[in-house]
Amino acid sequence: MKKLSRRNFSSKMAIGAGGTLLSANLPLGLTPLKMDKKKLGIALVGLGSYSTNQLAPALQDTKNCYLAGIVTGTPQKEDVWAKKYNLPKGNIYNYENFDSIKDNDEIDVVYVVLPNAMHADFCIRAAKAGKHVICEKPMAVSVAECDQIIAACKEASVKLGVGYRLHSEPYTQQVKEFVKKKTYGDVTFVSAEAAYRSTGNPSQWRLNKELSGGGALLNMGVYAIQSAIYGTGENPISVSAQEFSTRPEYFKNTDETITAQLNFSSGAIANITTSHNFSANSIYVAGTNGWFKLQPANNYGPLSGSTSDGKILDFPHESQQKLQMDDFAAHILYGTTNLAPGEMGKRDMIIVSAIYESIAKGGKTIALDIPENYGFST
Ligand code: NAD
Repeated sequence: MKKLSRRNFSSKMAIGAGGTLLSANLPLGLTPLKMDKKKLGIALVGLGSYSTNQLAPALQDTKNCYLAGIVTGTPQKEDVWAKKYNLPKGNIYNYENFDSIKDNDEIDVVYVVLPNAMHADFCIRAAKAGKHVICEKPMAVSVAECDQIIAACKEASVKLGVGYRLHSEPYTQQVKEFVKKKTYGDVTFVSAEAAYRSTGNPSQWRLNKELSGGGALLNMGVYAIQSAIYGTGENPISVSAQEFSTRPEYFKNTDETITAQLNFSSGAIANITTSHNFSANSIYVAGTNGWFKLQPANNYGPLSGSTSDGKILDFPHESQQKLQMDDFAAHILYGTTNLAPGEMGKRDMIIVSAIYESIAKGGKTIALDIPENYGFST
């Protein structure tokens, strides 16, 4: 069985991407746009599980950025984080004094890792403070909020990225490359699942619509939507969807399980499933000359994949968050590709809204008017 490894994949990517850089490993000769800094200072806003267990540890290994500050609503966390990560007092903010971060030259990027309904407010405040912004997924809880974030970043001339870590990791990049090069022919079908079983505290913010904006669809469903798009290489032209509920006493006002079918102008179709009631984590792409799949496809890795002609995808595991933050910092420092721009987050919210609309209308097909390639890596 042939193995596709990081080594032959990276050299292929360097040529295959037509001059755009898809990894944080910069080709020789790229000149920093910001000559005064080699590493950008990142401040994490919201020190919950994702910041604590993934982002802060990843920032200890990044090449183009480092953990420079924190913004927290919990005073007890200030000393703990300051000691653990050697953070100066002046780089520690709370939600009230956050706007004064504008005067801090050590912070270049603000990374918003709060409950979904708080993303827009903090991203806009960060942009107004003149800081580049990474906004966690889902970008916000409405298309209008995504527009406001994009506008604020444009107005302040700062860069905006969404925390879609998979675009920076090699298995997903290989999927995109297979699709682009038509290695397995024209894509005709994608099946994508992103789901886990939720059994925790029923009053957690993810089960509270005010804070989450929605249930499984906003939390995990965005990964399945993403898979359908990079699995076909196209934006969908219509969608129809169904909702299933088996534990209404637990999922009081957020969706438990949703399936949706997406149509693409090439004729390809995608079937996506998301749930907070069971585990599922894969992408399967069928083309006119074969297929390829990843399973798992969207967790923190190691991911795993194979193809119809017997290849095993085998890339060394690295922290996806490390790769993602280094790629975004490289975008700011060196003008490389923004792998997950704000428009990508907005496009996905347009699809999320259409899925909810279809469910509300009994599964009616909802037409989408998303320009070709809108929201793709730029
Ligand atoms: P979490 O519940 O572990 O942390 C949330 C943080 O927000 C906590 O520090 C909490 O104190 C703070 N907070 C402020 N106001 C709050 C309020 N009113 N209610 C609840 N918490 C409040 O959540 P998390 O898992 O760290 O998720 C945070 C964000 O990161 C979400 O948008 C989530 O979708 C995203 N996320 C992304 C990934 C990924 O793989 N890209 C993984 C996990 C989470």
